[in-house]
Amino acid sequence: MENFTKKAALQQHLAKLKADGAVITFVPTLGALHAGHLSLIKRAQKLGSIVVCSIFVNPTQFNDPKDLEMYPRPIADDIQKLKQVNCDVLFNPGVNEMYADNEKWHLDIGGLEGLLEGKFRPGHYQGVTQVVHKLFDIVKPDIALFGQKDYQQFLVISRMVSLLNLPVKLVMCPIEREADGLAMSSRNIHLSPADRKHALILSKTLNKIKHEFNPDNISQLKQQAEAVISNEPGVELAYFEIADGDTLHPADKNTKSFVALVAAKVGKTRLIDNVIIND
Ligand code: AMP
Repeated sequence: MENFTKKAALQQHLAKLKADGAVITFVPTLGALHAGHLSLIKRAQKLGSIVVCSIFVNPTQFNDPKDLEMYPRPIADDIQKLKQVNCDVLFNPGVNEMYADNEKWHLDIGGLEGLLEGKFRPGHYQGVTQVVHKLFDIVKPDIALFGQKDYQQFLVISRMVSLLNLPVKLVMCPIEREADGLAMSSRNIHLSPADRKHALILSKTLNKIKHEFNPDNISQLKQQAEAVISNEPGVELAYFEIADGDTLHPADKNTKSFVALVAAKVGKTRLIDNVIIND
């Protein structure tokens, strides 16, 4: 695996490969890699000829400085994992390589960035679109892969790509879960053994909603889900929403595609999860 920390060197490397006809696939991450991330790399290998993975803990998408400080950064382990799955290129820049001093700008992609996660993490998606736009500009991928785990993020990035006519195809990959249903996340290492048990209420409730779903019963199902999660010890619900899968507005019986999304603090760890209801 080629490992770059400087964008100019990476661009030079990729330009040569592209001139030889390579199809570049790209998996941006914050690192602390787990099987979910690696599933994106494996899917990327099937869709193109060169897989670029980036590991960059982007400060502008963290609205809570403590969360940024606590974010795990096991770079040596990550490199091992990427080598094991034969990733071709790693881009692991420092903050100064990505941002100029006092750099301040953001894209306005409309109301989507202020809903759900955006409401609870103000500025989060502005940071996400800022860094993903920069990364796309550096890597110039043909295809970029993102996880359904961050469903709203996928919609936000899709909107950015369509508004700016960016020449990249986006692919959404399914959520990888632990055997008991917990969605894999870099943050799971912060869960105590008790938190780990209580966290299961999120995937269990989402699953139940998927199986019991009835478009005539949305508000009742949502209320039941909110009550069950709020009653779980150690779990502080941020939101549970049954939403339109395209707009993330609350669904009603005329909605065509449904997704249920949840965010909650389990112990000290904020977790998100979702399920596509009619896939
Ligand atoms: P992150 O490092 O958390 O920003 O995640 C990098 C990419 O991996 C994002 O596109 C995530 O949606 C995706 N991802 C994170 N967790 C999972 C998971 N459990 N299954 C599949 N993809 C995931």
